[in-house]
Amino acid sequence: MTRRLFVANWKMHKTRAEARAWASELGTILGAGAIADELVAAPPFTALDSAADPAGRWTLACQNVAAELQGAFTGEVSALMAADAGCRYAIVGHSERRREFHEEGPLLARKLACCRAAKLTPIFCIGETAEERDAGLTAATLIREIGALEADPAGAPLVVAYEPIWAIGTGRAATPADAEAARVHIAELLSARSNLRILYGGSVTPENARELLSGSRVDGFLIGGASLSAPAFAAIARA
Ligand code: PEP
Repeated sequence: MTRRLFVANWKMHKTRAEARAWASELGTILGAGAIADELVAAPPFTALDSAADPAGRWTLACQNVAAELQGAFTGEVSALMAADAGCRYAIVGHSERRREFHEEGPLLARKLACCRAAKLTPIFCIGETAEERDAGLTAATLIREIGALEADPAGAPLVVAYEPIWAIGTGRAATPADAEAARVHIAELLSARSNLRILYGGSVTPENARELLSGSRVDGFLIGGASLSAPAFAAIARA
C-alpha cells in the first residue's frame, strides 16, 4: 500500500517565529520513531526555512508558483526558486487562487510545466462550487479542470487534491461517499497516469479524519485550518 500523504496548507498564516514553534511542537509529538505516512508542510514562502524539519520527518511544499521560470515578473516566485528553497511539492490551482487571482486552465498548465522543469511534484487542486454541485455539474467541473493536465507527462508523479469549494473553510466536510465518488471519477479520468495519488481536502479535522479515511480510498488529505495547530495536524495524520 502506498504511504498516505498529509499536507498542511497554512495559507497566509504564521510568521517565521510561529512557524518555528509549529515545527518544534510537531517534532516533539512525532518523536524519533519511524513515521508510516508522508507529511508535508506548505507554509508561506517567507517561512519555508522555519517550517523545515532538520530530521526529515516532513518535507516542504509551496502554495503557488509563477507561470514562468524567471524574468521580469515583480512579486512572483518561480518553481526553480521554490525547489532551491527546499520544496519538494507545489500546490497548483488551489480554489482560492482560482477565485481571488482568476487562475484557470491555460495559466495552470504553464505552472504545471514550471513544476516539472524544477522537479517539483504538483499537488493539483480541483473541485466544484456549491452551485455546480446543486446543478449536477460536479463531474463536468472535474473533467474541465483536469483538462489543464493534458500536456503534463503521464509518467511523472502527480498528486490531485479533490477539494469541493463548498467544503473549504466552511466546517462542512464532504461525506466519505462524496469523497470516494470523486476519487473514483478522478482515477478514471487519469487512468493513464502511472504515479498518481488522490487526496481529499475541505474541513478535515481530527474529529472527522478517521471516518473520511475509512469510508473512502483517498490517499490522504490536504488540510487548511486544522493544520495550523501541530497537534491537530498530527492527530489527523494518525487517524
Ligand atoms: C484548503 O485550503 O486546502 C483546505 C482544505 O482548507 P480547510 O481544511 O480549512 O477547509
